[in-house]
Amino acid sequence: MITPHPQEGSFRLFKFRNIQVSVHWSWLIVAWFQIQRTQASREYLNPVWAAYEYLALFGIVLLHEFGHSLATRQVGGRSDNIILWPFGGIAYVQAPPRPGAHLWSIAAGPLVNVALIPVFWILSWWSEHYTESYELQMLLHSIYRINWVLLIFNVLPIYPLDGGQILQALLWYRLGYARALLIASGVGIAGTLALGIWVFSSFHSIYLPLMLLFLLINAWSSFQRARQLLTQGPPQDS
Ligand SMILES: [Zn+2]
Repeated sequence: MITPHPQEGSFRLFKFRNIQVSVHWSWLIVAWFQIQRTQASREYLNPVWAAYEYLALFGIVLLHEFGHSLATRQVGGRSDNIILWPFGGIAYVQAPPRPGAHLWSIAAGPLVNVALIPVFWILSWWSEHYTESYELQMLLHSIYRINWVLLIFNVLPIYPLDGGQILQALLWYRLGYARALLIASGVGIAGTLALGIWVFSSFHSIYLPLMLLFLLINAWSSFQRARQLLTQGPPQDS
């Protein structure tokens, strides 16, 4: 759900409801490292379970992105592409320029994660009571947790995360598009920096700082765009 990028360097996986799902080549490299990391931290007896866990993460991401895409179409917008990047999925959506349409197309993503909570809870509970496989139990527990982490992360009010975009859509009702974008992306820059300080002091990971840098660049370019719109007189301000 971030700003459009060129689709070069991505491989087509499949099409569903006329939405092309592709994976960027860099995903494959990061996946390799992340599967090693997962294996190191979980100590699955067979590393194939670490691969399952990583694929499950992106399965959840994909469902989340389909939430955005299908909701965007529901409100009369366009969405033809979902690309999986190492830092998550991006549904390339163009919702009609109305706050309500934007709000639904953004909120539908995290709502998919909300809907998945009871599904994964039941699966996790089932594995604990009805299977002997320690690996399967750990996998299903992890998937349950991953879904929660993705939900919480996505609803942080840090533009361009979904939470930040929801904030922007809500402010849009009262302040118009450009002013709402200015505030939401400003909060996004501050939030990313605060999160950055926390991440640097708490985790020894290269993945998280890179992800935050990606967020910061997006928030910064949106902030600049909002300022430009405000000085030039935005065409879609309402
Ligand atoms: Zn999303």
